[in-house]
Amino acid sequence: MTRLLIMGPPGAGKGTQAELVAKRFAVPAISTGDIFRSNIADQTELGREVKSYLDSGRYVPDELTNEVVRDRLSQADVADGFLLDGYPRTLSQVDFLDKVLAEQGHELDHVIVLDVDVDEVVKRLHQRAIQEGRSDDSPEVIRERQEVYLQQTAPLIAVYRDRGLVFEVDGLGSVEEVQQRVADAIAQPPQPH
Ligand code: ADP
Repeated sequence: MTRLLIMGPPGAGKGTQAELVAKRFAVPAISTGDIFRSNIADQTELGREVKSYLDSGRYVPDELTNEVVRDRLSQADVADGFLLDGYPRTLSQVDFLDKVLAEQGHELDHVIVLDVDVDEVVKRLHQRAIQEGRSDDSPEVIRERQEVYLQQTAPLIAVYRDRGLVFEVDGLGSVEEVQQRVADAIAQPPQPH
């Protein structure tokens, strides 16, 4: 069974690595950011509700985000595992995920933390702004997202570390190099306590 989280600051390359890991372990990669963006593009009710948060780099309220994840984790394709990318991001999301998994009789087995330095990620995000034109890649919003990550999400690492689930991976290097490190980490047994 593969039930994984991938964490790291905005621009750490989570999305890229998540797709590759998902392929390698044949589990769906679930990105809350992607779900929100596709709802915005399709102009759904959820999309209208979350747009201003994404545009400004703030987190979508937990109640909305949690329901999206509960919904997604109830679908048949995640019965044998999943990789969550960009969720949980707050302590209350951690609690919620614990509850949903407990209801299903499941547990997480690895939390991959991509380590990269702030200057490097900011550089990458500026680059992506030019290539992809994401609405939240402007310099001010990039700074806001880093700040929000440090305040609200970085503390989650300690929570999962206490559970023996954290595997830190150096996020600097080529996509293939980082992917190999991530795969090696997942191959190691977790040490839950
Ligand atoms: P990045 O990690 O590069 O910021 P994401 O695609 O993961 O990009 O997220 C983009 C935006 O989507 C976030 O800035 C936030 O507004 C929203 N978002 C994604 N996941 C969550 C979450 N778990 N909780 C709250 N907001 C979220």
